[in-house]
Amino acid sequence: MPELPEVETVRRALAQHVLGRTIASVQLSGLKLRAAVARDLPRRLAGRTFRAARRHGKYLLLDLDAGQTLISHLGMSGRWLYWPELPAETVPHLHVRVRFRGGGELWFQDPRRFGLLRLVPTAALARDPALRILGPDPLAQPPEGDRLHALAHGVKVEVKTFLMDQRRIAGIGNIYASEILFRAGVGPRRRAGRVSRAQWDAIAREIPAVLGAAAERMGTTFSMYRTLWNEPGTYGDQLMVYDRAGQPCRRCGTPIRRVVQGQRSTYFCPSCQGAGRAGTPTRHRVPPPEKPRKGHRGREFPRPDRPRASCRTR
Ligand SMILES: [Zn+2]
Repeated sequence: MPELPEVETVRRALAQHVLGRTIASVQLSGLKLRAAVARDLPRRLAGRTFRAARRHGKYLLLDLDAGQTLISHLGMSGRWLYWPELPAETVPHLHVRVRFRGGGELWFQDPRRFGLLRLVPTAALARDPALRILGPDPLAQPPEGDRLHALAHGVKVEVKTFLMDQRRIAGIGNIYASEILFRAGVGPRRRAGRVSRAQWDAIAREIPAVLGAAAERMGTTFSMYRTLWNEPGTYGDQLMVYDRAGQPCRRCGTPIRRVVQGQRSTYFCPSCQGAGRAGTPTRHRVPPPEKPRKGHRGREFPRPDRPRASCRTR
């Protein structure tokens, strides 16, 4: 599932290639995503020009002229794809097709249909039900250890679950929560209220460091996520613990462990992150080895040629 670095990668590419472009027409699949896409969206978008590409947590905020903002969430499997020149064939699970004046198209593809697209007045963004509950964005407003320590006071949920709660910090998901906690040296099953001030300082330091570094590498691709150019992110080879169950810790050589928290896999080094700090052990059964991933990749299709190489971060 795309997290902040993946969405930031898409935002940067949109900012570079879509700003200033005027929409000629929009075509919808008519299928419901997380919520129904408004039927009048094509009429309301036609003739509008993209003015800014912003992001809060995992939400993209695409400002248009005339005071409107298109809110977009990639959900589990959403992709924005930009085509300066159209491919020979279309792609499956295409839900929105934006045609620009002067050529080029922007497509929203979403096989699992948990994505979100909603056009709202820019002035009303803060009241949008999806956005108003979000905590601060950790790249725009890096968290501070004392604030996290205060927020966690008396909180019994485990620290990994705490970090993934979008109401506290917007944008951290399953992959980067494991990575942040490894780098901070904090066990993922420790109760948030029992994490020390010094540990919160370390977590606060690692949150923007990990998310920022991952965004520079265009994020991590495990299944569906792709950049605007249908490329995988390259942060995968930097991961210290995520998806590395049984492999030696890159720091100490201890085998990385996988446990399930809130129905999601958590990876950690029992030595670097202190195995003895877990909560009630019976709540954390050790899951069977992970089955090989099967087919969420969808049908592959050619990558559009990048008009400029400068979009790459390296
Ligand atoms: Zn280790």
